[in-house]
Amino acid sequence: MSVRLRLQPEAIGTGMTSQRVRDRLVQRLRDEGIADERVLNAIRTVPRHLFVDEALATRAYEDTALPIGHGQTISQPWVVARMTEALLSANPRKVLEIGTGSGYQAAILAALGLEVHTVERIGELLRVARKRFRSLGLNIRSKHDDGRIGWPENGPFDAIIVTAAAPALVDALGDQLATGGVLIAPVGGASSQSLVLLHKQADGSLRQQDLGAVVFVPLLSGMID
Ligand code: SAH
Repeated sequence: MSVRLRLQPEAIGTGMTSQRVRDRLVQRLRDEGIADERVLNAIRTVPRHLFVDEALATRAYEDTALPIGHGQTISQPWVVARMTEALLSANPRKVLEIGTGSGYQAAILAALGLEVHTVERIGELLRVARKRFRSLGLNIRSKHDDGRIGWPENGPFDAIIVTAAAPALVDALGDQLATGGVLIAPVGGASSQSLVLLHKQADGSLRQQDLGAVVFVPLLSGMID
C-alpha cells in the first residue's frame, strides 16, 4: 500500500538534503517513539526540502517546524509522524486533511497509498503546494476553501486530520467521518493545545483519546487569495 514518487534530481538531494541526512531524521523519530515502519518509510521517501523555501532547504531534515510564509509553518516531522501513525490505526483508504500548508503532510499520506483530499484557506499556499504535488507525480485532490466546512460532497472519510488548532472540535468534520473512522485534531488556544484522537462509534458518537501536548497555528475562518 504505497506509491512510487517521481523523483527528479533535485528531489534526491545532496549535502544537507542527502539520503544520509534523511536517514538520521528517521533514526531520531524512531528514538522518539515512532514505531510504524510504513510511516518511517514515507518520511524517508518524501523530499521535505522541496516543501520549504530554498533558503531553508538545509534545515528541512531537522525535527522542527519551519516557516512557509503567510505566518504559517510546515509541521515538525515528529508531529506529522505521530498524527500519521494515529490515522493509520483506522486502516483508512480515503482521508481528508484540513490545512494543506506546504503540502508535506498530504504528500506523506499519498505516499502511503491513501486517497488524499486536502483543503487550504490561503490561495497562494495552495497554488505552490499543487505545483509540488504535480512535480512529484502525486495524485492529491485539493480545494481552496474554509476547511471548517470540510468537503461534504466527497465524504464520508475514513480519517480526517486537522493541521491547525481550534478551541473546540468542528461538528461538520465529525459528521463527515465514516463509522469506525478517526479524526485527529489539535484542540486548544494559542498557548496550550492537545492532540485529540476521536473514534466514530457505530451509534454515531465520538470516543475521545488524548495524545499529548502540541503547538499548531490557529484554524481561522474564511478564505484569502
Ligand atoms: N499540513 C501543513 C501544515 C500547515 S500549517 C503542512 O504539512 O505543511 C496549517 C495550515 O492550515 C496553514 O496553511 C493555514 O493557512 C491552514 N488553515 C488555517 N485555518 C484553515 C481553515 N479554516 N481552512 C483551511 N485551512 C486552514
